[in-house]
Amino acid sequence: MTDIILDKDKCMLCLSCIRICPMGVYENKEGLISPVNVNNCINCHACEVACPVDAITLKN
Ligand code: SF4
Ligand code: SF4
Repeated sequence: MTDIILDKDKCMLCLSCIRICPMGVYENKEGLISPVNVNNCINCHACEVACPVDAITLKN
């Protein structure tokens, strides 16, 4: 399973990861972005590439 690490201190709430993820892994919960449905991740790395502040790290 992919381990998704999201650095909340870096995140600027641009919502790119939510928009680009084809599997709906991320959710915006009261202004905090979290990888919620991690089991759905297909490890495409689109979120990691899309994040403008390198807040997302994927580990397999
Ligand atoms: S790697 Fe792909 S499927 Fe997994 S969370 Fe990122 S965008 Fe979604
Ligand atoms: S793409 Fe990066 S900065 Fe934008 S909401 Fe997602 S984690 Fe935060």
